[in-house]
Amino acid sequence: MAAVDMDQLLAQVTREIEPQIGTGTVADYIPALGAVDPNQFGIAVALPDGTCHGSGQWTEPFSLQSISKIFTLALALAQNDEDIWWRVGREPSGTAFNSLVQLEYENGIPRNPFINAGALVVTDQLAGVVGDATEAVLDFLRAESGNPDIRCDEVVAASEEDHGDRILALTHFLASYGNIHGDVRDIVRQYVRHCSIAINCRDLALSGLFLARHGLLRDGSRMLAHNHTKRINAVMLTCGTYDAAGEFAYRVGIPGKSGVGGGILAIVPGRCSIAVWGPGLDRRGNSVSGVAALDRFTALTDWSVF
Ligand code: GLN
Repeated sequence: MAAVDMDQLLAQVTREIEPQIGTGTVADYIPALGAVDPNQFGIAVALPDGTCHGSGQWTEPFSLQSISKIFTLALALAQNDEDIWWRVGREPSGTAFNSLVQLEYENGIPRNPFINAGALVVTDQLAGVVGDATEAVLDFLRAESGNPDIRCDEVVAASEEDHGDRILALTHFLASYGNIHGDVRDIVRQYVRHCSIAINCRDLALSGLFLARHGLLRDGSRMLAHNHTKRINAVMLTCGTYDAAGEFAYRVGIPGKSGVGGGILAIVPGRCSIAVWGPGLDRRGNSVSGVAALDRFTALTDWSVF
């Protein structure tokens, strides 16, 4: 698709989903996120040649939140190959992202790396190799987006840590099964900080491009084998939007990973990486305008994995 067509297409998607912008509820269990204006929307598409197109507020930073779980998983796979799968599963949970209930039945092995419990284990695994998982994610995002100014929003991180009883509970519970090896408070801190990275749609779409390029980085070097990115994309499709993953697959038809900051990163393997952002969430914690935009994008392009 020619560049000008993509710009027009994204402008069309933005126009068509306009009635959805501002609908839904901004996450307020992290108080700093509750202050975000819901009347915002952006979309960016990065193509395999490294170009990026956007519409709306696509250069406005937002809180990465659970989308960081893609990058911690990719980095853990790059460091330790398949070892992570001894410590975390890859089945959809059918429960909320911050749920505790399955963990006891399943002996402290989280269902998948994209619910909070699973991401805490991945953070612990990555921290065991690189020292600080947040710094590793930041280095990766800066290199792939070409933006050296990507930072953790320390106000958001402090706000989540101040209200972090559930995350602490999850991490202690995992540690009681021997599935957290580092210090519990340190792992929680690293987890909360990589969730609190501020990023815009442009930089996020570029940072996700390796998943559309079957493991190749911006500089052409290989980060992961095609087999690994196939697996990350598969887990995104089945688990990336929590207990709404079936509905998301049905409506959008491509792998996607959402965050309570209102962002979603979605991948059309071989074709593009798409970042959307609208802060209003549905009751499962997925962006209302973001899902609507991806729905329109895949419908208009006919791009899908099916
Ligand atoms: N930092 C958030 C939390 O742990 C991430 C959740 C999300 O984006 N779904 O609750």
